[in-house]
Amino acid sequence: MGWDLFERAASRVVRVALPVPVDRAFDYEVPEDLAREAEVGRRVRAPFQGRRLTGVIVATGVTPDVPDGTRLRALEAVLDPTPALPAPLLAALAEEAEATLCPLGLALAAALPPGATPMSERGFALTARGREALAQGAAAADAKSVLEALAEGPRPAVGLARTTRASHAQLAGLERERLIARTLIERGPRARPARVRVAHLVPGLDAEAEAAKLARAPRQAALLRALAADGETPTAALAARIPGAAGALRALARRGLVSLAEREVALAGALEAHAPAVELTPEQREAAETIGAAVRARSTETFLLHGVTGSGKTEVYLRAVAEALAQGRQALVLVPEIPLTHQILARLRGRFGERLAVLHSGLTPNERLAQWERLRRGEAPIAVGARSALFAPMRDLGVIVMDEEHDASYKSEEGFRYHARSLASRRARHERCPLVLGSATPALETRHAAERGRIQRLRLAHRIGSRPLPAVEVVDLARERAAHPRGRKLILSSLLLRALRETLAAGGQSIVFLNRRGFSTQIACVDCQHVMRCKHCDIALTYHARAHALRCHYCDWHTPPPDRCPGCGSEKTALLGIGTERVEEEVRAALPDARIARLDRDTAVRRGTVEDVLRGLAGGALDVLIGTQMVAKGHDFPGVRLVGVVNADLGLHLPDFRAAERTFQLLTQVAGRAGRGALPGRVILQTWTPDHYAIRPAATHDYERFYAEERTQRERLGYPPFGRLALVRVSGADESAARDAAALLADAARSGGASGPEVLGPAPAPIARLRGQHRFQVLLKHARADVLRETGRRVLAAAERLPRDVRASIDTNPLDML
Ligand code: ADP
Ligand code: ZN
Ligand code: ZN
Repeated sequence: MGWDLFERAASRVVRVALPVPVDRAFDYEVPEDLAREAEVGRRVRAPFQGRRLTGVIVATGVTPDVPDGTRLRALEAVLDPTPALPAPLLAALAEEAEATLCPLGLALAAALPPGATPMSERGFALTARGREALAQGAAAADAKSVLEALAEGPRPAVGLARTTRASHAQLAGLERERLIARTLIERGPRARPARVRVAHLVPGLDAEAEAAKLARAPRQAALLRALAADGETPTAALAARIPGAAGALRALARRGLVSLAEREVALAGALEAHAPAVELTPEQREAAETIGAAVRARSTETFLLHGVTGSGKTEVYLRAVAEALAQGRQALVLVPEIPLTHQILARLRGRFGERLAVLHSGLTPNERLAQWERLRRGEAPIAVGARSALFAPMRDLGVIVMDEEHDASYKSEEGFRYHARSLASRRARHERCPLVLGSATPALETRHAAERGRIQRLRLAHRIGSRPLPAVEVVDLARERAAHPRGRKLILSSLLLRALRETLAAGGQSIVFLNRRGFSTQIACVDCQHVMRCKHCDIALTYHARAHALRCHYCDWHTPPPDRCPGCGSEKTALLGIGTERVEEEVRAALPDARIARLDRDTAVRRGTVEDVLRGLAGGALDVLIGTQMVAKGHDFPGVRLVGVVNADLGLHLPDFRAAERTFQLLTQVAGRAGRGALPGRVILQTWTPDHYAIRPAATHDYERFYAEERTQRERLGYPPFGRLALVRVSGADESAARDAAALLADAARSGGASGPEVLGPAPAPIARLRGQHRFQVLLKHARADVLRETGRRVLAAAERLPRDVRASIDTNPLDML
């Protein structure tokens, strides 16, 4: 293919990647007056098949790739004042696009901020020579007004001509004399960051002592304690929690105890109350020094920071960031999802102040653009965010950190199907900076790369303060059931119930985890076993008690529960399985006096809910939190002493070769939430399969044992990291058309002969129907990625001949096999 990004010659032709589904870039002539601005990585407007498209320059000075005698079309405008995609990022994107078989223009379009039509126009700026002429009074009278107008800064050409009454010929004359120069000027409306009011304690305040003095102003005392526990908090959130907070805050501000300020929404509220630079443990120090040396040496090494939960990985990240800043460079910190961004953001802000920008999908497009522009203008040397933060337009990265590197949310599942780990590794190589992958439960691929010596593993084997990892007790649900024949429905075992009561009585907090929202999974007919399914997706509907509705968790279609079984007309239906909503009911019945909250996608639809609930847990306002995997990840809640897992087996039997790995990771993460404070933690894990190789090592915190077993399985079956997969997906409203298309693509995949990959299928996808589309798949398996890519290209070429209403795509690193 060969987009040679670094090709340079004397020609005034540039190569532009356009957002069209064609696997090539296009050449354009650069008009004289744009020559200086036509730089790699800037966006341009270019004519294309009767339209105007916004593309990105990927190479300059190229030899045109067109038949002799063809006239190239000219660029119409350069839109960015500086590159939107700096060269190292662009090079990394081009490689990842090629590896994932995504047309370059589409990959680049995905990397640009949403809704950001860059705003810039042509204008003039004063040159050093012009400034001198002005200072010496050497300019002619008609030139003087122009130079004076530009002395305050660059001006758009049109406005300049109007206000100074200079003609275009005069301006061109001044340019020839090099008194003024053409430039691009950013033009409004610039994205304006939305702001909110926040309150925080003045630094160094002994909040408890001050609160004690305020016995007669209980609201003010409560506010001081809340701010001491949570750090900076939006005033609206305080008002929601403490009635009359507004007046009390003003009183506290008058006393000089509290500061009120305005913050960009994207950053607000996330500020750790106390963020002293701690003294590192010996393990942390060794890791931080190794990474720091790599930052200073501009080494492109990848590190796996493999640390048990609570071992202080974040502190090591902060040191790496500080080292990059000390070198005058920038840092990028990736975290899996929105609730996680918050906590690490709080720590980064506690350490580095306002010098950071946040990029994640919880922001409005305007807020996101405002953050992106701060990065491009170099106003913030640190970017934090979910996987798309990898596209941050920073110019000289000193380190990239990827927390919880095993997390599935790092994989993009649509359009440009990149994996953030792979793209981060490419970007780090082009930036000449190290990459730090952190996890307690590294992805099999990552751990294997360390075993092979391709990346360096740094171990943090102990929790901070020699805290023990929590003791895990396994409840065998089959035995529990045998012990309580015909009793109540088995949701909370007697051991878990007792532990919840004991923890509450001792003033501790508990998390009850179940990775399925809703009330009960399914409604089934007692007589014929008919299960109600979504009419668009091949998925059992979930019963939601509060709404009294059956709801599809894939497409959100819902319907009231039927009075009679659609299969046999029976009136007897039963609830099978359980969801978080049902667990909540059970916990409320068992602990009537406890303060209980639930966190899952149903309760988290309102913006800010997740933060509020997590803040409530951190601040001690909650006794029990019930939730899905939203509560499982990374958070540091010192008050949590008990974690109960209602059903450890959910997800273990999904038709996905990563099911065991995901289960192990999730259980380890959840268990890691317990006992992070001064008191030891306790974990109760309920399971129907206590001897499964993903369950047992999770109970003993034995990653290496799980790894050894899973590695053997993968090797035997040729799954990653021992073999490569590519998944061809086909979908269409018409079942037979989709099936025929899948067969056609499978034939195309097989046409490579004996040297080609193993081709499995076509077969119906594990979720055979989704949102009304019938889904089929073809799985390609081979030891070598390049063989798969070549086959993939053949499949994509064949896919161009498919009927319009059938959609086909290929994923060269499928993570979601359903
Ligand atoms: P991990 O990310 O590995 O789960 P964290 O980085 O959240 O662990 O650290 C756990 C807790 O220990 C945090 O409250 C953190 O502030 C604290 N901590 C980290 N390093 C140190 C240290 N060297 N000394 C004291 N406390 C530390
Ligand atoms: Zn559905
Ligand atoms: Zn029936």
